[in-house]
Amino acid sequence: MRCVLFVCLLFCSLSGMALDRSRVEGYLLPNGLQVILKSGYESDHVAIRLVVGVGLDDFNCEQKELPHLLEHLLFSGLDEAGEGGLEQRMQALGGEWNAFTSSADTTFVIETPARNQRKVLDLLLSAIRDTDLDERDLATAKKIIEREDGGHYGHLQRWLDRQDIGHRASDQLATELGLKCPERSSIEDMTLEQTQALRNRWYAANNMTLIVVGGLDRLLPAYLDRTYAELPPSEPEERRNLDSISQQAEQRRELTRGWLGDSVKLHWLFIEPVLDNAHDQTLELVSRYLDWALYDQLRLRHGLSYGPSTQRESFGDSGMLSLNADLERDDINEAVKVLEAMFDNLRENGLDAETFERIKQAAMARESWATQGNSALADYYWGALNDYENGRFKDPVRKIRDVTLKEADEALHELLKDPGYLRIEKPLLGDDELYGLAALTVGVILALGLLRLRLRRRPTPRRSGATRKR
Ligand SMILES: [Zn+2]
Repeated sequence: MRCVLFVCLLFCSLSGMALDRSRVEGYLLPNGLQVILKSGYESDHVAIRLVVGVGLDDFNCEQKELPHLLEHLLFSGLDEAGEGGLEQRMQALGGEWNAFTSSADTTFVIETPARNQRKVLDLLLSAIRDTDLDERDLATAKKIIEREDGGHYGHLQRWLDRQDIGHRASDQLATELGLKCPERSSIEDMTLEQTQALRNRWYAANNMTLIVVGGLDRLLPAYLDRTYAELPPSEPEERRNLDSISQQAEQRRELTRGWLGDSVKLHWLFIEPVLDNAHDQTLELVSRYLDWALYDQLRLRHGLSYGPSTQRESFGDSGMLSLNADLERDDINEAVKVLEAMFDNLRENGLDAETFERIKQAAMARESWATQGNSALADYYWGALNDYENGRFKDPVRKIRDVTLKEADEALHELLKDPGYLRIEKPLLGDDELYGLAALTVGVILALGLLRLRLRRRPTPRRSGATRKR
């Protein structure tokens, strides 16, 4: 009996320990910096995310890379020891860091042993507040970005960009629609003053969120009050309006990828509708439903593609949902027909209730394991900041559960209202064309050889004019 009681107690205490991910300790420092703290899964480690509300979309095409440039500059070092010295200091604390500039934000991502969390936060604060920017560091940061972007942005690459060569289908379509810049911004022209102005305006306390998840130091709140609360705020300003669709795009295009081969990629892209209610969850469920439908049609029923999949991306103010499939060159027309029939069927009959329910349940189940571990949880908070209010993140499972079949059906109809955009990426030459070309080349060589032979055999005509005698 005592044993049963013990097991019951143990079970109850274990289930009580399950982490409520939605609830966090969140508050504003007096300078407006948003703090989100959460005791996580492992206590000997903390995951830190410092999210600065400035991203690539806050700048026009010529200046797009500016926040990325500043992000790199902030790692150039705090003293004569330079960037190497800064890295050594982080290593000595057992931490690892990186930073990412996306269209919406710039985020510093750190993993560190829990015992050094305050020292690591000190180092991060120094890097963003105290780093002196100079011309030499600027030149280095520019070179690094150039490398990251695939080398020097020369005339050839610029020309290729303008011809839409080498871009992914979704990027290419976004450019065609006016949602994305046609070429990279010229980082060569960016100045130290511009990066400094960006830093003054956007790296302000009231434009930052600090997320710390894991084995939290008891003194952390008091520490933050002494340190991060000292960062100056700035006068809040409007963010730049996101680009909207401003140009028409062709319905179907073939894009050249690589030189040789018979495998091609098909992309069928749709612009997502803007939904009044549960926009993201509804479209996510529609996307998963289409993912299944695509797999069912292209792989199971017709054996045309092995790994078809759907993807959601955003460009400017628009969402793009794409259905993607790897195919053989000869199967393109058949696959297009299968997909056209699939879309027609969905337009006419809508979602199948049973399939929708199964996909919805799987999406809800996924939420319970998708954010295991301190780092994944910190990343989840980072991605869900728009869903945060008063110490709570909206429960993602409930948000999915609340999406009805009718709502998803309406979203699907809106999505498929237009025919969408078809993009086929294929190498310049298929195997057959290569054989043809090779045969042609051999033919030309042989013909030239024969011609030469015949010319040589012909008697040489006697030259007119005087021949010089020795
Ligand atoms: Zn970078």
